[in-house]
Order: sequence, then C-alpha cells, then structure tokens
Amino acid sequence: MNQRFSGIGMTSQRTRARMLERLRAQGITDEVVLSAMNDIPRHIFVDEALASRAYEDISLPIGYGQTISQPYIVARMIELARGGQTISQALEIGTGCGYQAAVLARVAKSVHSVERIAPLIAKARKNLREIRINNVKVKYADGTMGLAEFAPYNAIIMAAAATHIPDELLAQLAMGGRLVMPIGAETQKLTVVERTAEGFHKVEMGEVKFVPLLGGVS
Ligand code: SAH
Repeated sequence: MNQRFSGIGMTSQRTRARMLERLRAQGITDEVVLSAMNDIPRHIFVDEALASRAYEDISLPIGYGQTISQPYIVARMIELARGGQTISQALEIGTGCGYQAAVLARVAKSVHSVERIAPLIAKARKNLREIRINNVKVKYADGTMGLAEFAPYNAIIMAAAATHIPDELLAQLAMGGRLVMPIGAETQKLTVVERTAEGFHKVEMGEVKFVPLLGGVS
C-alpha cells in the first residue's frame, strides 16, 4: 500500500490499532469485523482537513448535510448483520462516502449500496476505486423500499433512520438473513430483524442517532 493508504501520524497503522482496541473495549467481539475495520483506511473517506480525526469514535461531516457514521456504529451494525455467518449478498441503504460499504465488502461476497444524493455517489465510487474495492455496486436511487432488483439479501443495513420497518425490506431478506436499521425520530433504537422459518424475529438494541431517511433523490 502507498503512504496515503497506510497513513502517517494521526492516520497511521498505530492510530488504527488504537481504534481496534477501543472497539474491543466497547464490546465488538466478531474477529472478522474487527479485521475488516483494521483493513479499511477510514481517513481516505473524509476531507483531508478532517483526516487527523478519522480514527476517533465520532461521526464526521461529509457534505450535503450528511455524516460518516462513527466507527463503533459501523462495526456494531455489521457484527449484528453477520450474526457470525458469512454474508454472500448484502444491501446497504445510505452509501454516504462509502466507508461502511467498504467494510461490508470485506465481510460479504457482494454488496449493493443505494444513495439518494448524486454528488455522494460520485464521492463513494471514487473512494472505493481508490482502495481497490470492486465487489460494491453503488446505485443512485431512493432506497426507502430497498432494491428489489438484486434481492434476496443475506444482510440489509440501513444507515439512516426510518420511523418504521418497510415491508419491502422484509420481503427482500433471504431465509436466515438479517435486517439492521435505526427506528425512531429524534433518537432511535437500533433494530435487528432476522428472517427464520417461523417468521420474522425482531430484537431492539440500544439507542442510536442517525440522519433521517429521506424520500426521493437529489
Ligand atoms: N454509510 C455511511 C453513512 C452515511 S449517512 C457511512 O459509511 O458512514 C446516511 C446516508 O443515507 C446519507 O448519505 C443520506 O443521503 C442517505 N439516505 C437518506 N435517505 C436515503 C434514501 N431514502 N435512500 C438512499 N439513501 C438515503
């Protein structure tokens, strides 16, 4: 890897190792997820002026009123979506700058990611190309109802908050698959729905704070 990927100073491998220690301390136990978090240089996904803060456990602005999710949330959502199993096909709703899609690409065979803001699509594609991730397909669309075209998915992760679980997302889950999304208005509950032979099994995790899911494209 060249120096821009491997990083120096506050973006160095040592700083990334500290992020990993923090994720473990925060309760992330899935080694596959931890290794993926270690692999993906988060500083590539934020503006250069913010690169020195890229490995702190905070969300950061990515423009257009949107944010890159904090590392803990990305790791936690992917850990929940995996449930200890290999994901063959994943769907992400809310690509943003493409960071979570990149981590997901390390634990899934293929990833589809949908984003409604055109300039962010361009940004995400550029970032993913730069670190040579080629198993993510980014699509410019309103992902409120998922992406039926490539369903079913073993994992669906929504990176924006909805007020309820759209039936369409449940319909796009493969048997044994999991949907992970924040539900609520001001603050939300991270919610996991697993599709089993008996039906849909829903579990609410802790409180989270995401940007809202918006309709249409812009
Ligand atoms: N996955 C990102 C987080 C991006 S923030 C990361 O790795 O950090 C959430 C994103 O969801 C924003 O970019 C926002 O534009 C997008 N979003 C909101 N509503 C959407 C919708 N209906 N369809 C697709 N994307 C949406």
